[in-house]
Amino acid sequence: MTHELRVQAVSQVTDRKPQPPKMPQRLEALWATDVFTLSKMQASLPKEVFKSIKNTIQTGGKIDVSVAGAVAAAMKDWATSKGALYYAHVFYPMTNATAEKHDGFISVQGDGTVITEFTGKVLVQGEPDGSSFPNGGLRSTFEARGYTAWDVTSPAYVMETDNGVTLCIPTVFISWTGVALDKKTPLLRSNAAMNKAATRVLKLLGHTDVAPVNSSCGAEQEYFLVDAHFAHSRPDLLLAGRTLFGKPPAKGQQFDDHYFGAIPDRVQVFMQDVEEKMYKLGIPAKTRHNEVAPGQFEIAPFFEAANVASDHQQLTMTILKSTAKKHGFACLLHEKPFAGINGSGKHVNWSVGNATQGNLLDPGDTPHANMQFLLFCGAVIRGLHKYGPLLRAVVATASNDHRLGANEAPPAIISMYLGTQLEQVFNQISQGQPTSSAHAGVMELGVDTLPIFPKDPGDRNRTSPFAFTGNRFEFRAVGSGQSVSGPLVAMNTILADSLTWIGDALENEMAKGTELNAAVHTVLKEVMDKHGAVVFGGNGYCEEWHKMAVEERGLPNLRTTADALPVLKADYIEELFERVGVLTPVELESRFDVYAEQYILAIEVEAKLVVSIAKTMIYPAAMRYLSELSTAIVNAKAIGIEMGKESAEKVAALIQPMLDNISKLSEAMTKHDFAAPEEHMQYSAQTIRPLMDKVREYADALESEVADDFWPLPTYQEMLFVK
Ligand code: ADP
Ligand code: MG
Repeated sequence: MTHELRVQAVSQVTDRKPQPPKMPQRLEALWATDVFTLSKMQASLPKEVFKSIKNTIQTGGKIDVSVAGAVAAAMKDWATSKGALYYAHVFYPMTNATAEKHDGFISVQGDGTVITEFTGKVLVQGEPDGSSFPNGGLRSTFEARGYTAWDVTSPAYVMETDNGVTLCIPTVFISWTGVALDKKTPLLRSNAAMNKAATRVLKLLGHTDVAPVNSSCGAEQEYFLVDAHFAHSRPDLLLAGRTLFGKPPAKGQQFDDHYFGAIPDRVQVFMQDVEEKMYKLGIPAKTRHNEVAPGQFEIAPFFEAANVASDHQQLTMTILKSTAKKHGFACLLHEKPFAGINGSGKHVNWSVGNATQGNLLDPGDTPHANMQFLLFCGAVIRGLHKYGPLLRAVVATASNDHRLGANEAPPAIISMYLGTQLEQVFNQISQGQPTSSAHAGVMELGVDTLPIFPKDPGDRNRTSPFAFTGNRFEFRAVGSGQSVSGPLVAMNTILADSLTWIGDALENEMAKGTELNAAVHTVLKEVMDKHGAVVFGGNGYCEEWHKMAVEERGLPNLRTTADALPVLKADYIEELFERVGVLTPVELESRFDVYAEQYILAIEVEAKLVVSIAKTMIYPAAMRYLSELSTAIVNAKAIGIEMGKESAEKVAALIQPMLDNISKLSEAMTKHDFAAPEEHMQYSAQTIRPLMDKVREYADALESEVADDFWPLPTYQEMLFVK
């Protein structure tokens, strides 16, 4: 790194003006102040209007659009009182991004004066052009009309930035033919389908009072922080979100001295700032800590209804990025910003439940006797086995490919960890009757002054992509930069499908005169006989499992996105989404097209960056250094000192193969005649990526040879240890 950069880096830390410690405000004073909450609606809406809105939000009742005018007026008054001049319909296109189109409240009158105006019609429906969002052929530019429609179940809020205040309204985004162009519409549909199937099963179990069943999500977000000016000196970090070059630092994560360690001061100030913003927006940030890799951290909220959690997760990513800038950091949400250092994931904790029966994935103390739990858990087992490749496909991105299966994140094979206790119960079901649940007992620490506490009935398993963790499933293969919507849609959809199958099977059994208990056991036994192969409690990282999974259990190992995405085009997946009513075949195909294109484009951008950084930054630095070495050797000789040529030879020997591989990569990138996106994706995975790695191999070797002050890129060592 150049001398100037290093001076900047040091001053970033040492020149900070001492600030008086900022005491966090009281939670009650912050909580949801920027959200148009139910209680604010209650205070400002006519009684009947409020009742109608509340019914839609809390029990999924049909929205009465005639109340929109009154809601819009109250919303506008509240937002303008907070300083908002603009409003925005916020929507979630298929790119993992959050999109917003801003409009002023301004309305010009005949006499040239202006008033603020916000009608029910503009609250309910917007028409952003949005024709430039990838839509996988769903719309051609000549039929570019797209609509946003108000999602009343996710609260409106004001977003305060240095540039003003905007009223934000969460919406769905659909084409003018009614086709879903976004990530929210399928999530809402999948939840509705799951609710319907779950309600039926609950009624079959004898419940008469069944409140709407909703899915919940708590998403743990991992991220990296690096000093902003380092990020700005790295075109790869700026444009691709990850380093395409860089040799491992002398010290990495091997000491485990960062994980859960004391949070560095600067980072803690940043975290507090993030949490304050989240609290104001009603996002229940709860947990924060250092993660495994140096420079890596985690934030996790308390779980919420899946639709709201998903919107909040998008906001969290936005807040992390924008707040980082203010604190002189760049926040990296890429799944693998640094080679050889643990990457970042986003564990999606998911459960389903309602107000009358509670959490339907809660096993209770005696799971073997808990038919309700066993049926819902069995439904997930069946779904995961039948549609495992779908779960793999929804976490398939160019960036997540670097992480999955890399002994730091679950393998690309989708299996389920149940924990010892439940595995035993389900084994008993396979063999006949579930008769008992093992109990963990209590943990005695042998010291009188320490408390005795109950042990969990199952351990945790870090190596499983899909783990039962006490009262929920944790989908651990999701990437840190991804929207959680796709994974939630997949989980809700497979559950809806399995519960429908279970409902049919139970009704069939009972029609034969079988009593309920026996019918449940018959159905569960069939689930385990056909789908038990997906349950695996061992080490998901080891080679033997990968072999056993594929060869003995028939679980596919879809290693790359190029292997996984085509699953979305398979007939059985298309039938699933259509049958459950979540995505039409056209909508599903458009998703394949968009995700395939994004994969191809991501690798194309990276390949271009590899060529340009290697050619215009690394090669010149190496040549200058070589020249300096050579001159020094010659000059030394002139005064009678004989110097060895080894260093110069070594540098020269690395430059040439690097150049050769740059040429090969450039040449490979000129190929454009692909018969289908599938072929193009395989080409990106099998040809382009390995050539990028080759260039990197020589460039990283040069980093060990070239003088530090010649090296044009901030190094891993400099970037990874935030002070
Ligand atoms: P860990 O790192 O041990 O997995 P964390 O506390 O970091 O646990 O995160 C667990 C996440 O799971 C939190 O967001 C939490 O709110 C969420 N969670 C807890 N119970 C449920 C549930 N029943 N359904 C969905 N999410 C849940
Ligand atoms: Mg977790």
